[in-house]
Amino acid sequence: MIIIRGNRIESVGGASSVQVPPGATVIDLSQATVLPGLIDSHTHIFLQGEVPDQGGYDIQLLKYQISYRAARATVAARRALEQGFTTLRDVETEGAGYGDVGIKQAINEGVIPGPRLFVSTRGISSTGGYMLDDYSPEIQVPKGVQIVDGPWEARKAAREQLDHGADWLKVYMTHRSWVDKDGALVSQPTLTVEELKAVVDEAHGWGKKVACHAYNGIGLQRALDGGCDSIEHGLGLTDANVEQMKRQGTWYCPTLTPYYLDWAPENSPEGKRDRRRAADHEPSFKKALQAHLKIVFGDDMGGILWTEPIAIEFDYMVRFGMSPLDAIRSATVSAAEMLGMQGQIGAVTPGAYADIVAVQGDPLRDIGVLKHVGFVMKGGQVFKDELK
Ligand SMILES: [Zn+2]
Repeated sequence: MIIIRGNRIESVGGASSVQVPPGATVIDLSQATVLPGLIDSHTHIFLQGEVPDQGGYDIQLLKYQISYRAARATVAARRALEQGFTTLRDVETEGAGYGDVGIKQAINEGVIPGPRLFVSTRGISSTGGYMLDDYSPEIQVPKGVQIVDGPWEARKAAREQLDHGADWLKVYMTHRSWVDKDGALVSQPTLTVEELKAVVDEAHGWGKKVACHAYNGIGLQRALDGGCDSIEHGLGLTDANVEQMKRQGTWYCPTLTPYYLDWAPENSPEGKRDRRRAADHEPSFKKALQAHLKIVFGDDMGGILWTEPIAIEFDYMVRFGMSPLDAIRSATVSAAEMLGMQGQIGAVTPGAYADIVAVQGDPLRDIGVLKHVGFVMKGGQVFKDELK
């Protein structure tokens, strides 16, 4: 029995020990499995897949105006909520500026339905360190992040983004990747340690954290040496990387799914790269599991079409050796801890927000049932109730 008053959980207990307050609305989920609202720690609501024959990434920055992108972001937010994801850490808008701050405001004010958002606004990388790539140097094209060079520019970008409402900062520490002549995955590093340290120092001063996109190699090492709070993707964690993450308490958000979908043709450079990434990622994730790194669920929705089921990431986590319970924890209690929201979200416990979902079946036996969340409550308000 979960007693909810307003937007919070008041008490939790056995049906015999808890009194139903007079006048309360009773929702019977006794035939379902009830869980805390799920948390996706790596999404892009302003990105709508990168489908090549629909113009890929570039068209979204070159041809879509901001109002169109914002309209689609509201749909992405709704899609997340209806799948039981009541909180997202959205890790930058891909050229849509501070649009995520506005979407968050609209959700918080009840203008549109959507999850609780932790937003990171524009993202940060260096010259040569982010898309749009490969246009003629004679024309100016937009970039999917704020470009900085030098520690002071980095610090200024961090200040601007924090000033305009960033809850987290997102920094790209690697960009292009390719397979070298020995068959190894190589990633181009972006910011220097000094530049990243300026961002991290600024963010920490504001009581905020920094998420670092980093595949492997030099850029990943700089991310760790610069003191980032979470490593995104981490396709090629070495034993030394894992050891350092353990020591520094760094979170790991592996985002497995996108690396196992939609590979380029086998004998093209991109195809070789895609296969190498996938081949590296599984052992990297297993290494993290074995070392008991702090892992959070995230599948880079937006990079993946929002029409795909978000919970597909659970399938990969479990397939690669994580227990179903730990996979669920990565999308609930663990993510809440990373977000500094322990006891507030990601748990069915007195005092927490009443973010509650339910599914038919037992996700500990079949993690796949989480793709069919039938009941969603956020902050005490029922958004979806299809379990009857
Ligand atoms: Zn991403």
